[in-house]
Amino acid sequence: MMSALCIAVRYSAVRRQFGPPGGEETPVLEYQLQQWRLMPYLAASYVLEHFANTLFMDFVAFQIGIMGGDTSDRQADLGREIHAIVCAAKAYCAWIGRDAIQECREACGGHGYFYVNRIGTIRNDHDPNMTFEGDNNVILQQTSNYLLSLLAAKRNRGQEITTPLESLDFLENMDEILQSQFRAQSIDDCMNMEVVVHAYKWLVLKLLVDSAARLQKELDSGKDSFSARNDSQAYYCRTLALVYVEHANINRYYQMLQGEDDEAVPDDLHPVLQKLGSLFALWSLEKHIATLYQGGYITGSAPPYLIRESILRLCREVKDESIALIDAVAPTDFVLDSPIGHSDGQAYKNLYSAMLQTPDVFKRPDWWKEFVNKPLVGALRQAKL
Ligand SMILES: Cc1cc2nc3c(=O)[nH]c(=O)nc-3n(C[C@H](O)[C@H](O)[C@H](O)COP(=O)(O)OP(=O)(O)OC[C@H]3O[C@@H](n4cnc5c(N)ncnc54)[C@H](O)[C@@H]3O)c2cc1C
Repeated sequence: MMSALCIAVRYSAVRRQFGPPGGEETPVLEYQLQQWRLMPYLAASYVLEHFANTLFMDFVAFQIGIMGGDTSDRQADLGREIHAIVCAAKAYCAWIGRDAIQECREACGGHGYFYVNRIGTIRNDHDPNMTFEGDNNVILQQTSNYLLSLLAAKRNRGQEITTPLESLDFLENMDEILQSQFRAQSIDDCMNMEVVVHAYKWLVLKLLVDSAARLQKELDSGKDSFSARNDSQAYYCRTLALVYVEHANINRYYQMLQGEDDEAVPDDLHPVLQKLGSLFALWSLEKHIATLYQGGYITGSAPPYLIRESILRLCREVKDESIALIDAVAPTDFVLDSPIGHSDGQAYKNLYSAMLQTPDVFKRPDWWKEFVNKPLVGALRQAKL
């Protein structure tokens, strides 16, 4: 995903197409649509990278526990929680990567389609991620089963829910969160990631309660538990697993910005990292507007307007930093191996040079005669068959 973004963002800064009357042609990166298509994925790549790194450290802690013979309840709970998070994260990251790569391909127009520019290869390499290590739609069910079991433990046994990674600790404040409403009154309010993190807590709890109710309804109708679970997936358990991991992801990034992480964010990087976090969080939340309305978390016409205007503003602002953000994490040009994605910005020169280096590029194809010796008009009538 990051490689495809490197190619698409660098190329978009170079490629000029159309422009105001009498003026110069505009780099396509300056178009609102191009920014809106690419910048959220650039933000996603930073937020997901942080998520993967911190989750990896949690997994290391779990492995150390195993090696040290830790048989405590906490170690067992940690294993279950990591399992639930990674099942959803696998599907979620694979799908974001898939969509990002395809958007990058299209954002580069016809040049994105050229084999030599490598987006097609990246897309093919990424494709099995949707299926191997567990089909995405199937593996998400492990996460929703875990979440439903926590709700059942709270409701049926009055158990206090505190998990080692605190990914669902807000279940303890369920009633209060479910009665709350969207907190932003302005675009500036929307920029505050805390507002989106709170909205996600509401979403997780709302979908958790609704999924449990749906499952119960299916059971009450006489279905066995296997069938009842299968018939509670679309719009319920599947979405529940996804919003749970979206919350975990966004919340971890928010905690990093708040200085709650081990690694402090340097002051000069804080503003741009904050913008990336807000953009990704709002862009993700926007996909759940129907559920937010349905459950009464948002009312009236203002919230979607505020969310969308904030996304557009952030896309514009992140665009100004996008080349630096790409250069900071890009693979080397040798590894990227894409003429239009080269860090020197000489897309056309590199493309021409790559074409010249193709073996036999100046040679006639061996089938050229077939095109030169055209069939004679009427030749078929003289056939002796
Ligand atoms: C490139 C590649 C490499 C692989 N490498 C390995 C490997 O090294 N080792 C190995 O052991 N395996 C490997 N696999 C196999 C891989 O793990 C399986 O393909 C994967 O787990 C999906 O299982 P399946 O193919 O049986 O799909 P199926 O289970 O047959 O799924 C087919 C479709 O039915 C849907 N479906 C199935 N069950 C349900 C359900 N309960 N509810 C709703 N929908 C459902 C799925 O969503 C999917 O769309 C590889 C696969 C690929 C593509």
